[in-house]
Amino acid sequence: MLAENHKLKPLFDFDALPPKQTVGNGFTGMDVLSVAQFDRDRLDYIFARAREMREMVLRIGGTDLLRGHVLACLFYEPSTRTSSSFIAAMERLGGGVIPITQGVQFSSVSKGETLADTVRTLEQYADIIVLRHPEIGSSQLAADYASVPVINAGDGPGEHPTQALLDLFTIREELGRLDGLKVAMIGDLRYGRTVQSLTKLLLQYDVSLRFVSPEILRLPLNTMNQVIDAGVNVRETHDVADVIQNADVLYVTRVQKERFSDLAQYEEVKNYYEITPELMAQAKEKMIVLHPLPRVGEIHYAVDSDPRAAYFRQVKNGMYIRMALLAAVLGRA
Ligand code: ASP
Repeated sequence: MLAENHKLKPLFDFDALPPKQTVGNGFTGMDVLSVAQFDRDRLDYIFARAREMREMVLRIGGTDLLRGHVLACLFYEPSTRTSSSFIAAMERLGGGVIPITQGVQFSSVSKGETLADTVRTLEQYADIIVLRHPEIGSSQLAADYASVPVINAGDGPGEHPTQALLDLFTIREELGRLDGLKVAMIGDLRYGRTVQSLTKLLLQYDVSLRFVSPEILRLPLNTMNQVIDAGVNVRETHDVADVIQNADVLYVTRVQKERFSDLAQYEEVKNYYEITPELMAQAKEKMIVLHPLPRVGEIHYAVDSDPRAAYFRQVKNGMYIRMALLAAVLGRA
């Protein structure tokens, strides 16, 4: 029972609360589903914001730019970097997170709830949803149901747009330019979604592309056709030694075991290539090695101490890019 003389006093002075502000940046409220949504202007904008985020983190660690905003992080496939960097990004900007990441098996998904219903539930609590799912097109489906923005954090072998943004940003920051570069993609070009996304983004620049893979893991025809239509200088090969001397960027990837229906085929190609100090001795003095990670043997540990090994710097850039993107989509940057 309430005390007799209890009077309901307003909890908030609503007149004194600042208005909810959003900036007209062209990103506010946008679903981020594919790299096709990013032209050079948009890329420059996100990169400029990411640099500001980096500077801010280095100086003060975090701000409250996204205070009052909540991100739902919904991962139906394993993740270390993408999920933790989205969480770190949100927290460094003062927002909150609902992490359904490693624990999707403990959510109602394991009771058979559909993606559409899970998304329509999470949007009741959250202002934005980051989704990883094993099926191509899953993030589009989630976006069709959700009224809050959805960010694709990997849809099976489809796309991984935020990874491609951070890959491109890393190349730009490490080498100081994008035009004029020779980029070699190595490994599982067939199932690697980061390869599809980064390749498509690179087509907006004046680059040469080299694709290095075993025969069964060649770049899919639809992506290759886009490369050819864009008129860039392109060549395919099976051997890293063919490209190492001229490459400005070696983009190394893991064979995507989880996408093989025949594991015997995986066994055949899993150890096809390894970047070693001996190979690196043939590479240019100013070049970089990137990898979206995790690595499972494609880059020897002895390469890590080489200053050209940029894959952990690439990881850090992921947080700055995702900070920039979250702030932009939520209309705060
Ligand atoms: N982490 C990247 C992805 O989710 C690359 C990989 O898993 O090999 O696509």
